[in-house]
Amino acid sequence: MCGIIGIENNEDAMVLTAAGLLTLQHRGEESVGITLSGKDKMKTFKYMGLVSKIFDDEILLKKLPATTAIGHVRYTTSSKSSLTNAQPFQITCIHGNISVAHNGNITNFNEIKEMLLRKGAIFSHTSDTEILLHLMAMAKGDELTDIIASSIRKLDGAFSLVILRDKTLIGVRDKNGFRPLVLGKIGNSYILSSETPAIEVMGGKYVRDIEPGEIIVIENGEIKRSFIYEISKKKNTCIFEQVYFARPDSTMFGHTVKEARIKMGEYLALQMKDIKADIVMPVPDTGYCAAIGFSRVSNILFENGLVRNYYVGRSFIKPMQNLRDLIARFKLRPIKEVINGKEIVLIDDSIVRGTTSRRLVNILKEAGARRIHFALSCPPIINSCYYGIDTPSRSNLIAANNSIEEIRKYLDIDTLTFLTLENLIKACSFDDKKNIEEDNNFCTACFTGKYPTKIPNNICKEG
Ligand code: SF4
Repeated sequence: MCGIIGIENNEDAMVLTAAGLLTLQHRGEESVGITLSGKDKMKTFKYMGLVSKIFDDEILLKKLPATTAIGHVRYTTSSKSSLTNAQPFQITCIHGNISVAHNGNITNFNEIKEMLLRKGAIFSHTSDTEILLHLMAMAKGDELTDIIASSIRKLDGAFSLVILRDKTLIGVRDKNGFRPLVLGKIGNSYILSSETPAIEVMGGKYVRDIEPGEIIVIENGEIKRSFIYEISKKKNTCIFEQVYFARPDSTMFGHTVKEARIKMGEYLALQMKDIKADIVMPVPDTGYCAAIGFSRVSNILFENGLVRNYYVGRSFIKPMQNLRDLIARFKLRPIKEVINGKEIVLIDDSIVRGTTSRRLVNILKEAGARRIHFALSCPPIINSCYYGIDTPSRSNLIAANNSIEEIRKYLDIDTLTFLTLENLIKACSFDDKKNIEEDNNFCTACFTGKYPTKIPNNICKEG
């Protein structure tokens, strides 16, 4: 996952972009980058670590006034975590100065890279995004939209992009719309962002989603839109954004993610209507909204019995297993007075490897939990994601290799319930009668194995 942002035609472009990136920090904590375009030059700054690094850099803050900017926060899904691979990527080519920030994974990366190498291209990064820059640099024609569209048509997979060409801002979404990209407005300036809260923090208002397959070109406060492909009724927006990744205050499909998560909890309560418990308790933070929904429907008291340490980041977001283990140990601490002697419904978003959940169950038992009913607000994850979420290989996904009863025994809990796919789609669609066979909105491949695009054999997942 990554977060991307861009603003055009604004004297405060630098500070607003940095503020927007801070709001998207949850989408990537490994590196941050910003490209600024001012009177006579375009320049990119990149740092390993958090967005606050931008505010530490006095040179950047004082000396580079810019009216157009793009920014990126990164967490690694397809290449090494390093400053070299931090985005945006800036080049100078026959079509001008171009900088690109990308959220997603290009699945035919190896095939295209091979083709470009044969044509003499030289690569300086290992990131899949670099191939887009090569394709654009080699594209024929003068029209910006044609240059981008002809390059994009060669790509498969997931890509929401913000691109800067001199002082022109461009937004692109792949034809499936895997990753989000929204348009906002502040005064005479347009904003592009992965999620709506960044627009609001910048002082702007949400205008609309960029459609799957759409290119939007913003110049001097004017917008031109076109489509790379024929518009299809079928989208494949990542449903896991609503389960786990997006901020609860983000608006998706006309509702906040918080509302969708509350619905997930309500459906879980209906699935578990025979369970009696003293309290329903969330795993912070993504379990909160579902636990509220569960409590409303079941009438079981909502209690907060786990305190999260906010200074260690999200364990799922860290690419290194050894770091993940270390972080999880001190990430959540129990409030014994809440837990001791209680029968608990514990709500989390998902189980990936199972190791973090098992550690959490041990913490609750040490704090005196009498019985634990564990509920997840999505179905079992049995397939890897190739579209920008850092799920491990199938061999490391606990649900791909074990039955629900085997997982329950491994976790040493009393009951284990996963939200059904049908209920997840109903919750995210805000439609209690939704027929999942007729769903036209969501990618659900990590639960079903039905990938919306061809996955080449030579793509491998690490970990
Ligand atoms: S495979 Fe899963 S995580 Fe990946 S895009 Fe599809 S729904 Fe999202």
